[in-house]
Amino acid sequence: MNYEELARLAEAAGFTAWKPLDGATLEVKREVRDMCATNTCGMYEKRWSCPPGCGSLEDCAGRLGQYPGGILVQTYGDIEDGFDFEAMMEIEQEHKAHFQQMYAELRKAGADVFALGAGACIQCRECTYPDQPCRFPDQMVSSMEAYGLVVLEVCKANGLQYYYGADKMAYTSCLLIRE
Ligand code: SF4
Repeated sequence: MNYEELARLAEAAGFTAWKPLDGATLEVKREVRDMCATNTCGMYEKRWSCPPGCGSLEDCAGRLGQYPGGILVQTYGDIEDGFDFEAMMEIEQEHKAHFQQMYAELRKAGADVFALGAGACIQCRECTYPDQPCRFPDQMVSSMEAYGLVVLEVCKANGLQYYYGADKMAYTSCLLIRE
């Protein structure tokens, strides 16, 4: 699947911005993994999609290295200020809906796709971690951060704006494809 087709799917899914993603720019960083371990999001050791369940940093780098590239996708929207959590959550939910739609379309089209989203996997209300294997390993989505990626750096390296000003919030994900 070429980039033009990916861009058409991104537009149809409702994203507000997208750019080609060069797999060589995906650099995993130990300090991002260390930040996960502080568990500010409450998902550390809670889901297969999140550290340590998603594998070591080396495992993650190995998985990413199998994909030459794909597309970076983003949803941004208006917020009143840095405390407008309601608007932030709405934009995040919209982004996740766009992402799920595009991910499903790619799987339906038979693409060999590897997806990294924004936030922990939300396929199941209760994750099976750590007692049972993941229920839907083909649909599980880890976050870019869980894979040790600095989203700002990935955006910068691929020419996608990351910060749109104090009155906007953006969520970013990536879909990697290999033939
Ligand atoms: S698909 Fe379900 S079991 Fe697997 S990581 Fe996601 S929430 Fe957990």
